[in-house]
Amino acid sequence: MAYYQSSPIAGRHFLQIPGPTNVPDRVLRAMDNPTMDHRGPDFGRFGAQLLEKLRTVFKTEGPVVIYPASGTGAWEAALVNTLSPGDRVLMCETGWFATLWQEMAERLQLRPEFIPTDWRRGADAPAIEAALREDRSHGIKAVCVVHNETSTGCTSRIEEVRRAIDAAGHPALLLVDTISSLGSIDYRHDEWGVDVTVAGSQKGLMLPPGLSFNAVSEKALKATETAKLPRSFWDWHPMLKANETGYFPYTPATNLLYGLDAAVDMLNEEGLDNVFARHDRFAEATRRAVRHWGLEIQCEEPRHYSSSLTAVRLPEGHSANALRAVILERFNMSLGNGLGRLNDRVFRIGHLGDFGPLSLIGTLGGVEMGLGAAGVPHKPGGVQAAMAYLNGNA
Ligand SMILES: *Cc1c(COP(=O)(O)O)cnc(C)c1O
Repeated sequence: MAYYQSSPIAGRHFLQIPGPTNVPDRVLRAMDNPTMDHRGPDFGRFGAQLLEKLRTVFKTEGPVVIYPASGTGAWEAALVNTLSPGDRVLMCETGWFATLWQEMAERLQLRPEFIPTDWRRGADAPAIEAALREDRSHGIKAVCVVHNETSTGCTSRIEEVRRAIDAAGHPALLLVDTISSLGSIDYRHDEWGVDVTVAGSQKGLMLPPGLSFNAVSEKALKATETAKLPRSFWDWHPMLKANETGYFPYTPATNLLYGLDAAVDMLNEEGLDNVFARHDRFAEATRRAVRHWGLEIQCEEPRHYSSSLTAVRLPEGHSANALRAVILERFNMSLGNGLGRLNDRVFRIGHLGDFGPLSLIGTLGGVEMGLGAAGVPHKPGGVQAAMAYLNGNA
């Protein structure tokens, strides 16, 4: 049974969806070690140093909880540890992922209020401030924002959301989904006063799917004392207790943790600021290619451009799914599909994670050839525009 991407085309598959991303060989090698006794002495030492250095990536001094789950699990953990049935939560409809989180909140018997957008920009901080000012009785218990909306390629300004909450003088918790931004786009859990940061392994952290995270503030920990939503598997307390000595209350995903250890080292060796600058630069090069082709970028607000992916709109009457199918079949590259109401309207170029200048040029080359092969009207030369920008003479 072939568990890898099977294609008659030689060369490595280009996995340019905005997560899961390409896993660096160093991370693969780290996972290729014998699984150890997760209650033995070696594990405690390994776990303790990993939990400590993981904080650097979130820019927090506080604890980071690791779950053997996809990002969706960490969404649920953030809600059930801090909230009670019937609690009002303010959420921002930035796109498909924000909508899924809102639907989860409803299923958990919370009462989400959804601030709409047109799916072409990030969260509206003034609208958040207005809603909180109106809530004089402080019935709203949490504000939930997706930092990087992976369905649209729009990044919300979390520091502005923080200022909006403070300006309204409102005590709501701030819960932020960084599943497709952590390790790719500047993010500061402590400095921005975030109470729970939700993250996942398979995007900027360059790991396979299977781990997710909650970075937890003191205020969030305090909220657990009164939070009444049922929780067991997701409960932070047994986790934090066991983590004190480097262990976990149930079997951790040991080999993924080896990979995480290597990935955090890689990010810190490159330097987080350099990692962010690299993503900014490749995102700008991508946008230059898209504009040159004469195609439209889904994000309409330059202040909200995402550095981890770009969603590209197709002209009326052209199918983004047909384009992606041609690119997969002829050039062995996977691009992200349009989600929800953007299905068939956009395709998404993931330029995050283990991604260098030639990964970018190869990716854009595949898109440009695909546009030609699929008969999508465009002006050739977008790859040239990206190369000129990377060489500093754009
Ligand atoms: C990928 C993603 C999710 C979903 O994570 P899973 O790992 O698929 O559960 C949620 N939010 C955002 C912003 C994402 O990019």
